Amino acid sequence: MVTGGAGFIGYHLCRRHLLNGDEVVCVDNLSSGRRENVEELKQFPGFSFIEADVIDLPKVPVDRIYNLACPASPPYYQKDPIHTAMTCVLGAKNVLDLADECGAVVLQASTSEVYGEPLIHPQMESYRGNVNPHGIRSCYDEGKRMAETLFFDYNRMHGTKIKVVRIFNTYGPYMDRNDGRVVSNFINQAIRDLPITLYGDGGQTRSFCYVSDTVEAIVRMMESEEDFLGPVNIGNPAEITVRRLAEMVKERTGSASELCFCELPQDDPTRRRPDITLAKEKLDWAPAVPIEKGLDETVAYFQRIRE
Ligand code: UDP
Repeated sequence: MVTGGAGFIGYHLCRRHLLNGDEVVCVDNLSSGRRENVEELKQFPGFSFIEADVIDLPKVPVDRIYNLACPASPPYYQKDPIHTAMTCVLGAKNVLDLADECGAVVLQASTSEVYGEPLIHPQMESYRGNVNPHGIRSCYDEGKRMAETLFFDYNRMHGTKIKVVRIFNTYGPYMDRNDGRVVSNFINQAIRDLPITLYGDGGQTRSFCYVSDTVEAIVRMMESEEDFLGPVNIGNPAEITVRRLAEMVKERTGSASELCFCELPQDDPTRRRPDITLAKEKLDWAPAVPIEKGLDETVAYFQRIRE
């Protein structure tokens, strides 16, 4: 089962398992996931789709559960912050209860947002974070932190087979062009010669991981030795400023777009880079796709769907 399987990473994860010959049940309420992604996955005979909210999770017998259900782009998860918080918390409870009933392994897609505005750089898993508990990002950040808590408490109380990954910024084909994230915004602005919207002075940093690398790590974590629960960082340690990203997108699209500077959203983290020592050691994993190649693939995708 992949909750949130119609979303960006969820789509790639479903596809990866379907190509393996596995049966996949995708559960998605399509609030930020896309019906087009579901339609593409329907070409695989092992695929089934249940349109449902993880808050009302259907009980289906499964042996692996990936819990990706939650809008992840700031403008999306801030539209209905109460529902976002409930999705994180009740969604986690529901997948954990289902895992208990089925004896399944359940993997939580946690996030680099648990580190908030980090005071330690790069971020390693032992860092406990610096999160605003009542800001506009809190519904997501604190929701995801609470979900981690529930995962470890179920493991301690019931012996539930859990895995927790903390996913850093991920990009690639099948991102939703309108979801407001930086890579999709910049590419779509560049290929239309529209102004590229830098928030603040563009000096804030992120570390962007190509989606095939992220999915590889998630699957490796699911299949890792039973006593390795995580949390484990999954991301690309190559850190760049948002301004540099804008320049790279301009160069690679040959765009005539101007850079324009817009207001920086509240609580926007200044720096973000994963320490992936643990993933290297436990999962024998490191990202393989450099940002230049990943951006080219992503540009080609957005150009293709533009027609
Ligand atoms: N950002 C930007 N222009 C945009 C969208 C985002 O400068 O059109 C910045 C945003 O302020 C943040 C970074 O890019 O510093 C990454 O934003 P995104 O929403 O992709 O993910 P986040 O890491 O903030 O969750």
